[in-house]
Amino acid sequence: MALNSLYVKKGFEQSIHEGHPWIYKNAINRIRGDFTPGDLVEIKDWRGKFLGIGYANPSSYIVARILTRKQERIDERFWRKRLKSALNFRSKTGIAELDAYRMVFSEADFLPGVIIDKFGDYIVLQTLTLGMDRFKEIIVRVLTDLFPVKGIYHKNDVPVRAIEGLSQEDCLLFGEVPDEVIIEENGVKFCVNIAGGQKTGHFLDQRRNRVLLKDISKGADVLDAFCYTGGFGLNAARFGAKTVFGVDVSEDAVATARRNAGLNGFDAVCRYDVANVFDRLRELEPKGQRYDVIVLDPPAFAKNKKAVEGALRGYKEINLRAMKIIKEGGFLLTCSCSHHISWDLFEGVIFEAAKDAGKTLRVVAREGQPPDHPVLMGFDESLYLKCLLLEVS
Ligand code: SAH
Repeated sequence: MALNSLYVKKGFEQSIHEGHPWIYKNAINRIRGDFTPGDLVEIKDWRGKFLGIGYANPSSYIVARILTRKQERIDERFWRKRLKSALNFRSKTGIAELDAYRMVFSEADFLPGVIIDKFGDYIVLQTLTLGMDRFKEIIVRVLTDLFPVKGIYHKNDVPVRAIEGLSQEDCLLFGEVPDEVIIEENGVKFCVNIAGGQKTGHFLDQRRNRVLLKDISKGADVLDAFCYTGGFGLNAARFGAKTVFGVDVSEDAVATARRNAGLNGFDAVCRYDVANVFDRLRELEPKGQRYDVIVLDPPAFAKNKKAVEGALRGYKEINLRAMKIIKEGGFLLTCSCSHHISWDLFEGVIFEAAKDAGKTLRVVAREGQPPDHPVLMGFDESLYLKCLLLEVS
């Protein structure tokens, strides 16, 4: 069946040619034909020249997302090719041998609106858009063909789905998924709660950045702020930390962090507290509590452009407070996962915090996303994670 055509206004074809897969409301001239939201469309420039095939949802600000810039059918073969190619990329970059990794990172794997994470024998699938929601049966079929997977869980409690007019329900799509899956990452065991955890259950994007703690953790007193289920702190313990103190506002996350410490035999090293990091950092300074290493891995403070100013105040506050309670010559590992906070803004605010705290910073490492969360050049939106390891004196 021939697809309907979506025409892009003159001038707006350039970013598509450069690889940007989104078409915003203001770039659209018209959609021709009998169209239902979520349908596949042929995307054409103002002269009617073919640009690609994508799916469209006029009720979203991003009306269309491009799946391919070739004339091809979006059938099971297309899905098989895309998923195999995502896997191939991970094999070549050494990711596929890991127990847990992101198998598909949406636009950066040329599958806009699809997130697939693998935790051992289990897979978590998120379809974030109306157009992609329609393909979930095919995705499940191809995944079960490619892998000896025991269960696939549809983790769809994602607020962005509401923009697309989708519900936020979770459900099982294939096989069985236990309440907890134990994975191993960097030699540390983690209990991942797929259905009940945050996002897909575990923050896989910080795997490599957790290893930055290797040399600096030996014999150190470490504060793991925004610890979730203990990601950074447990790595620090494995690298020989003397004490690890983890803080998170989520009771469930802290309960799992304690459980993870036990799983790895670090009960005597790791201590956790359910608290607001802003409050806790403020209390620690007058108490005279000091640390060799502090990790700050907050949630995305700026979820959109309007929130940038407030987010910068938040980043400055926690970084300044942390710098004040780091021992002379100690280390700060500080992160931002807000796409809207650029590297320049992030480093700027860290430097502001240092000036106010009367500290000098030296950069030990400047890191970002691992290859299972690739950054697609020409699509800035795929760059979100920034991680700085700094010496503080
Ligand atoms: N460092 C973690 C991931 C952190 S995700 C890891 O390596 O896995 C961000 C965490 O911040 C979440 O667990 C969330 O519960 C927590 N959080 C959000 N706001 C907070 C606040 N004000 N104080 C403490 N924790 C907070």
